[in-house]
Amino acid sequence: MRTIDHVYIDGQFVIPHGTEISPLYNPATEEVIGRVRLADETDAHAAVAAAKRAFATFSRTSKEERIALLHRLSASFTERLDDLKAAMTEEYGAVRGIVDGLIPLAPGMFDAAAKLLEDYEFTRTRGTNTIVMEPLGVAAVITPWNLSTVFIAQKLAGAIAAGTTVVVKPSEISAIQTQVLTEAIDAADLPPGVVNIVTGRGNVVGNVLTSHPDIAKVGFTGSTAVGQQIMRNAAETFKRLTLELGGKGPSILLDDADLASAVPAALASGFLNNGQTCFAGTRILAPRSRLDEVVEAIGKAMPAFRVGDPTDPATAVGPVVSQQQFDRVQHYIRLGQEEGAQLLTGGPGRPEGLAKGWYVRPTVFTGVTNEMRVAREEIFGPVLVVIPFEDDDEAVSIANDTPYGLQAQVFSSDTERARGVARQVQAGTVLINRIFADDEAPFGGIKQSGIGREHHTYGLEAYLEPRAISE
Ligand code: NAD
Repeated sequence: MRTIDHVYIDGQFVIPHGTEISPLYNPATEEVIGRVRLADETDAHAAVAAAKRAFATFSRTSKEERIALLHRLSASFTERLDDLKAAMTEEYGAVRGIVDGLIPLAPGMFDAAAKLLEDYEFTRTRGTNTIVMEPLGVAAVITPWNLSTVFIAQKLAGAIAAGTTVVVKPSEISAIQTQVLTEAIDAADLPPGVVNIVTGRGNVVGNVLTSHPDIAKVGFTGSTAVGQQIMRNAAETFKRLTLELGGKGPSILLDDADLASAVPAALASGFLNNGQTCFAGTRILAPRSRLDEVVEAIGKAMPAFRVGDPTDPATAVGPVVSQQQFDRVQHYIRLGQEEGAQLLTGGPGRPEGLAKGWYVRPTVFTGVTNEMRVAREEIFGPVLVVIPFEDDDEAVSIANDTPYGLQAQVFSSDTERARGVARQVQAGTVLINRIFADDEAPFGGIKQSGIGREHHTYGLEAYLEPRAISE
């Protein structure tokens, strides 16, 4: 049983002023595996004060100093890769494929930011203007429990490269991942106060950060509903915002797609991270002329999405994160049935042989229209829908008929045709015959999937403010 009873403020592990103790669970066993003492408003204020003090000097550091610091962060994250991976599996059931594929991206983000800094011009001349890109002030970083290491690293890389200090508020249910990550940050020996980490409740610590007059920017990854609340709070003091929110991404199978490869790829996107991925392709759009073949290909591919113990390398789909999430996903499966969708595979209840653990049967519905709630709302579990279309125009129109716009996939054997469709799909990222963008692509959504972009120059400039000095 772990006890996590420290937060990280001003370069020190300190016991929080907050006294609430919250349990931590292993979703594969439903057992309590630890307890975390949560920060409160007083801790949030202390963290902001430390970040503000540090900003005075950190905002004036040279590129070279920040490059060295980013490399140190990369090295200390690399050192703790195995622990970071183990924490994800233990705390939210992430499977081997996910931890091995995605966690190594975190140190790479610091290296990429360091490389970007080498050639980045903070001062430019345009006409009669000197344009100065300045760190915009203390930033709050608020993150969800899924892939929290990657989301925190992504934001820290941009903020530190910019010369901005940070208060991180990770999810209250990712305290084990946060503990390892905080130790890695501490080992990188940053100046005190540059990064402060306070795990606490959203409506307590998060609320202080998003309304605090000394916070200039909020970098948020999480649900659309909380993103809206943050915008409202931040409006009082005109904070800059980057909001990475929810999604209901389409995977469009054009009628010339190679279904033998496209269908397993579309399913892999939908079931990614046990179905708990903002950019998952949860709506499979299938040509009516090949619907039977798509259904057959799904049936053939499903055995590869083996559900079970996330520590077993053969497992592709682990449990969902919590009892609450399990109940929510079960509700959506029942709702799909009530709405008249047909179960192609999966369904309500636990998978056979898994009586314990928040395991969901990987579920695919057919007979779905884009008006059904299972096609419109983010479920955040391994539940996918297949929606038929007549032609490319209708595929685009269904793809875009959603409040979200984070990521989409287009599968076709004709790249030119796929490009034509991709250009019309409203999403921050549209992938052709693949389910991951490489890390040069900006990341972020349109419509209710968010505001702003992360990665590389976009991620750096998210923490900078351009000013003009004109002569
Ligand atoms: P969530 O929105 O419930 O919580 C995210 C974070 O916000 C947590 O740290 C939480 O404590 C905090 N929070 C909650 N209320 C707050 C408030 N009033 N003020 C400030 N902070 C507050 O999301 P979650 O359940 O942790 O994660 C799942 C959601 O995140 C899904 O909707 C998913 O799509 C989204 N997500 C988006 C991305 C992306 O990059 N677009 C990535 C991962 C997850």
